Amino acid sequence: MSLEFRHIAHAYTGRTGRVEALSDIAFTAPAGKITCLLGSSGSGKSTLLNLAAGLLPVQSGSISVGGNEMAAPGVNPPPEARPVGLVFQDGALFPHMTIAKNIAFGLPGGGSAGVIEQWLDRVGLAGLGERFPHELSGGQQQRASLARAMAPEPQVLLMDEPFASVDIVLRRRLRRDCRRLLREAGTTTILVTHDPEEALDIADHIAVMENGRIIQFGTPEDLHERPASASVGAIFGGAQIVSAMRDGDVLRTSMGVWPLSCIAGDLPDGAEFDLLVHAETLGCEADEAGLEVVDVHPLGVASRLLLQTPDGKEITVQSTATVKEGMRYRIVPQTRSVRAFLRR
Ligand code: ADP
Repeated sequence: MSLEFRHIAHAYTGRTGRVEALSDIAFTAPAGKITCLLGSSGSGKSTLLNLAAGLLPVQSGSISVGGNEMAAPGVNPPPEARPVGLVFQDGALFPHMTIAKNIAFGLPGGGSAGVIEQWLDRVGLAGLGERFPHELSGGQQQRASLARAMAPEPQVLLMDEPFASVDIVLRRRLRRDCRRLLREAGTTTILVTHDPEEALDIADHIAVMENGRIIQFGTPEDLHERPASASVGAIFGGAQIVSAMRDGDVLRTSMGVWPLSCIAGDLPDGAEFDLLVHAETLGCEADEAGLEVVDVHPLGVASRLLLQTPDGKEITVQSTATVKEGMRYRIVPQTRSVRAFLRR
């Protein structure tokens, strides 16, 4: 069953006034796939998830599961009456219940011992059903919450930063196991994360959020190969954004004057845009009037240099030359290595 958001907007009104947290959100999380909501803190991810979960009432727009309206203004069934399962960052297991009882909680009639054993086994907790949550590690608790959320076989699973409290090595394992279980069960999943690596690793589709809007929705490959804006490109390719204006045959950029030939494609004269640049494609030449080297980080054959403009803007380049802090360089991008996005 797909999960469809139609024209969702949401505002919080509090002591300090009104905050527009979401505007005109419209996308479909495809059936049986994992869709990541990716964005920095405050971009609106949790608000959107909470609207689907029934933890916040929908103010405008609607949310449907498999074509059936689940929530809309005035239509606000509680979480337990929705065909959704929830997994939170901290697991949110019932502390006074054993792991087996936690898993049994959402099952009709409490589920059979066999079914609960099966779920413990699937999530790698075989033999630990009689423990209480505080007797498990953080990673094990997250496995238990995954089992609790998946055992009732919800049509949709909503996960809010489910791996955030687990250390990095375990996180990768947990992520892999989680992806396998969700694919096997064919559960339509929305997973909130602020970590691009996590989104690339686990998602079939990614909705990139910025300031309460979805700025791009696509497969990891789409976002990597065809970013809709410089900011999406910067999130995924480890690239940097440099503002620029075309002035005849040159680009006047915030990092100095660059040749027009560094961009692929054409741009109107006088246009302002953002350049997406990768450190490896930026050469540099010694120049007294250039940018100052403020940090040198050796990477084997080459070094990563941090250059600074007089007004404090920074850019990273890679160089095989012997460079010391305090030296000055002009940036020379490789021909056609830079992508340009017109300013909106
Ligand atoms: P994210 O999950 O991406 O970090 P949120 O959905 O939590 O983003 O927040 C989106 C915006 O709404 C932010 O500007 C945040 O400050 C604001 N916000 C979130 N919850 C509340 C609230 N209860 N009251 C007022 N503003 C809120």
